[in-house]
Amino acid sequence: MKFNDFTYERPNLEIVKSEIEKQLERIGTDQPYEVEHQAILEMFAISDRVNTMGTLVSIRNSVNTKDEFYEKEQEFFDENGPHLQQFQHLFIEKVLASKHRPKLEKAFGDLLFKRGDLEKKTFKPEIIEHLQKENKLSTEYSKLIASAQIEFKGGTYNLSQMAPFVQDKDRETRHQAQLAVSGFFAANEEQFDRIYDDLVKTRHEIALKLGYENFVQLGYDRFGRTDYDFKDVQGYRKQILEVIVPLAAELTDRKAKRLGIENPKSYDLALSFLSGNPTPKGDRAWQVSKAKKMYDEMSPKTSEFFNFMLDQDLLDLDSKPGKQGGGYCTYLPEYRAPFIFANFNGTSHDVDVLTHEAGHAFQVYSSRDQIPEYRWPTMEAAEIHSMSMEFLAWPWIHEFFLEDTAKYKFSHLAGAISFLPYGALVDHYQHEVYMNPSMTPDERKQTWRTLEKQYLPYKDYGDDLFMEKGTFWFRQGHIYGAPFYYIDYTLAQVVAFQYWVMHQADPKQALDSYLALCQLGGSKSFLGLLESANLKNPFVDGTIEAIVKPIKAYLDSVDDQKL
Ligand SMILES: [Zn+2]
Repeated sequence: MKFNDFTYERPNLEIVKSEIEKQLERIGTDQPYEVEHQAILEMFAISDRVNTMGTLVSIRNSVNTKDEFYEKEQEFFDENGPHLQQFQHLFIEKVLASKHRPKLEKAFGDLLFKRGDLEKKTFKPEIIEHLQKENKLSTEYSKLIASAQIEFKGGTYNLSQMAPFVQDKDRETRHQAQLAVSGFFAANEEQFDRIYDDLVKTRHEIALKLGYENFVQLGYDRFGRTDYDFKDVQGYRKQILEVIVPLAAELTDRKAKRLGIENPKSYDLALSFLSGNPTPKGDRAWQVSKAKKMYDEMSPKTSEFFNFMLDQDLLDLDSKPGKQGGGYCTYLPEYRAPFIFANFNGTSHDVDVLTHEAGHAFQVYSSRDQIPEYRWPTMEAAEIHSMSMEFLAWPWIHEFFLEDTAKYKFSHLAGAISFLPYGALVDHYQHEVYMNPSMTPDERKQTWRTLEKQYLPYKDYGDDLFMEKGTFWFRQGHIYGAPFYYIDYTLAQVVAFQYWVMHQADPKQALDSYLALCQLGGSKSFLGLLESANLKNPFVDGTIEAIVKPIKAYLDSVDDQKL
């Protein structure tokens, strides 16, 4: 069957609700274990059915936003989703309170119950109004970002359209492009400050109402982080400061030399090579054929997966009018099918879709037989699968980049290293903000700039006084919309580095370990998954230094001045 043949039918909510209520009655009130067990399975089946329809709608709506039918159906799900979520809360509460809980934990794994406990802590009907306010503020931020109309060199651009200018080969173009982008943020400074101030205060109030001391732990609990806390993260960031920051500074020096610049400014950092950044050497169809060759040769399982994706048309990669921007990977439970959505644009990002997003898709394909709650892991673990696939793809990467292969490999690793301090900075900043919720907007900016100088000491804003004031974070959507999420990317990157190292030494061992990890899906917590795969825990002091040593040795061995 092909994706276009997947049939959509709007779920009849009255029937769904009565089915759910019927199952809920079978959980709790003195029912035998077998009945409860069966009722939970039925609940999973109902949620798979509804989610398949909801996901089908969101995919078709994003592929063609002009299709009125799916636009209406999207509205239907947006409106009714929250009502169905209430049943989910009710379900969790009943399952948690069951007298058969120990036996159920054995059957379904205790993680489901640990997550349920956290979910319960993060919600009370009294906070609904505050949650609505939080959503509204996040949406307001997104709209403000999307409203950017930046005048530059005779054209008008939004923020993402400014990206090519920001990394232009001509230095003065980069310089002016940065000033133009900063100008947008400066013109809207009051708005960005007010929205964030409101968000911080609203979240702090929610935390107090739920019985937390401040928003920090609540932020962690919202992500279902069951096995580490802010103190672990604090120690982890310290490792980044001590080990990665000097290395990133060194890489910045090397880049400045490559670019022939004496005192690099912030606007010089987005360009990697004077001759331009590496690009794939063919169109979409050509790249997909290379990806097919790669997955066919990598292993029987990856081959089966990628051919399944191709046979069923589960990749929508071309940019076209009416299609939403960005990219994602999602899953249709009833069809047991992952789906990859992207907008190819001829940059190395296209190859990332075929490695990174395909890594996500391969993971969920491999854990299809898990219960719905365990098909995807928590975010910091989910990114391990995608970022590691980027590294497992290295033996085939020349197929895509041809003469740019050496450039690609060097900037892939160097870029991943240089990202870590920024990720830690974004995280550290948010801890300061939520531990001191009464800080004024000016104090927040000073805090950002002070931390920025520690994590990114090589970032010199030159004559960009607005950025020098401590406002770069205005553009980091996660800080507004998904507090404490950002560190996840760095944690996954550090773990994925271990796959790079393992793969250099023993490709078969690395691949086998990766395939086994994918099958586990989200059936274990972050640290549980690492333990099963014999991967090092990044929170343990000294781990980052050990992991990064061979990567530094590799980067040192490359004569990047010749690339
Ligand atoms: Zn990802």
